[in-house]
Amino acid sequence: MTYEELYEKNRRYLWNPFTQMKEYLADEPVIIESGYGCRLRDVKGNEYWDGVSSVWLNIHGHQVPELDAAIREQLNSIAHSTLLGMGNVPAILLAEKLVTIVPRGLGKVFYSDSGAEAVEIALKMAFQYWKNRGVDGKTTFVTMREAYHGDTVGAVSVGSIDLFHQVYAPLLFPSLKIPFPNPYRNPYGESVEDVVNGSLRAVEEVFQKQGDQIAAMIVEPVQGAGGMVPMPSGYLRELRNLCSAYHILLIVDEVATGFGRTGKMFACEHDGITPDILAVAKGITGGYLPVAATLTTDEIYDAFYADYHEFKTLYHGHSYTGNQLGCAVALENLKLFEQRNLVAEVEQKAAELHHYLDPIRSLSHVGDVRQSGFMVGIELVADKATKQPFPLQQRTGVRVARRCRELGMLLRPLTDVMVFMPPLAAKLEELKDMTSILYQAIAEVTEDHQTRVAESR
Ligand SMILES: *Cc1c(COP(=O)(O)O)cnc(C)c1O
Repeated sequence: MTYEELYEKNRRYLWNPFTQMKEYLADEPVIIESGYGCRLRDVKGNEYWDGVSSVWLNIHGHQVPELDAAIREQLNSIAHSTLLGMGNVPAILLAEKLVTIVPRGLGKVFYSDSGAEAVEIALKMAFQYWKNRGVDGKTTFVTMREAYHGDTVGAVSVGSIDLFHQVYAPLLFPSLKIPFPNPYRNPYGESVEDVVNGSLRAVEEVFQKQGDQIAAMIVEPVQGAGGMVPMPSGYLRELRNLCSAYHILLIVDEVATGFGRTGKMFACEHDGITPDILAVAKGITGGYLPVAATLTTDEIYDAFYADYHEFKTLYHGHSYTGNQLGCAVALENLKLFEQRNLVAEVEQKAAELHHYLDPIRSLSHVGDVRQSGFMVGIELVADKATKQPFPLQQRTGVRVARRCRELGMLLRPLTDVMVFMPPLAAKLEELKDMTSILYQAIAEVTEDHQTRVAESR
C-alpha cells in the first residue's frame, strides 16, 4: 500500500495517542513499516535512528532473532489464558526471575499491561495495605512537582505536569506535591546541597504535619516526562529513611529507569535502597509487548493474605494480565541482558556518550545537558545566562526534532527538552552519529549556524 493511501486511512480512521492530530496530519507524518537494530524504516523507504527507543522501551534493537524466536516458540503452546484464579508457565517463571534481579526484599510480583497500570496497582496496594492492617486515615499520597506516572486517572492524580494534567483536575483525587530536587531550576539556592536539603525539609514538614494521613510517597529516580532530571546522588536514600521513620510507604516508579537504562539494572541501586513498592514496565519485554509489573515486599503481600470473607483481596486484574507471549519474550529479554553483560556495557558506553555530548553543551542555546546512563535531556533556552525559556509558541523542541527527522533520526521532545534515549544495544559509532545529528539540528534551529554545522559534520 502506498504512503498516500495509508496517510488517508490514518486521517480518516486513526486517532494517535498524545498527539495533536491537526499538527500531525499537516506535517507528512512518518508511517513506520519495519525496523532492525537501532533503525526504523518508513513506508516511503526512508531510514532513521530510533533516537528515543520507540518512546523509552527498546533495549536490544528491533527484530532481535532471540526475542522473535521466543515469541514464536511460545505460540507453539498458547498465546494467552487468564491469570485470574489460575496460573501459567511463563508468568510464574518470569515472576521468579524478576524477584532475583530487583532490589533485595521485593518478593512478590503483580502483573499488568502498562506503566500507568503498574502505578495504579501500586497506589491501590498502598492504600489497601493500611486498611487491611486496620490503620485508619492513611488515604493520601505525596508526589513531586512535574512528576509523570502515566495517563490513567489515578496515575494522573499523582502526576504534576500542568500541560498534561490540568484539564482533568476536577476528576482527580488530591495529592500533596513536593518540589523535585532539580539543580538547574530550583527554588532553594544555587548548590546541589541546598537543593537536596531544601527539598528534603519540605518532605519532612509534610510528613510531620500530615504523616498519619499519608499512605505512601511516589517518586521517579530520574524525572522523565518532567524533563529528564536525575535525582541528586543520595537523595533517594534520605527519602527512604524519612519514609521509614514516619511509617509512610515508598513507591518507586522505575517504569522509565528500570532494566539498565541508567547504567544499573534498577536506578534504586545507585543509592542502595529497596522501596516498599516498585513499578516497572517499559524495558521489561525489550520493547516488544505490553507487560508491566508492580513488585512488593512479603510484608505487604501478607497484609492481603487472609480468608476470603475478610475481603482483603487486591481487587485488580485485566483481561490480558500475565499474557504468555509477553512473559515469554520478557524472560528471553532478561536472558540476553545476562548473556551480553548489557548493564555493565551501558555504564561504560554512557561514559563515552557523555563526551559525545560535549559539543552540544557548548551551543549557545543549550542551557543544561542532563544524563543518567542512556537517559539524556538537553534543555534548550532562549538565554543561557538567565535560563529564560523560548516562547512556547515557537515550538523550538518540535522544530529541532523535525530537523533531526530530515537528518535521519526520530525523536520526541518534551517541550524544549530534547530527549535522547537510544536503545541500550546502540554501539559507540551509532551513538556518535546520533549525537552529531542532534548537534546539527539544535545548531541550525537555535542559532545562526552555517559555519558551526560545517565544522561539526
Ligand atoms: C512512561 C511512564 C509511565 C507510564 O507508562 P505507560 O506504559 O506509558 O503507561 C509511568 N511512569 C513513568 C516514570 C514513565 O516514564
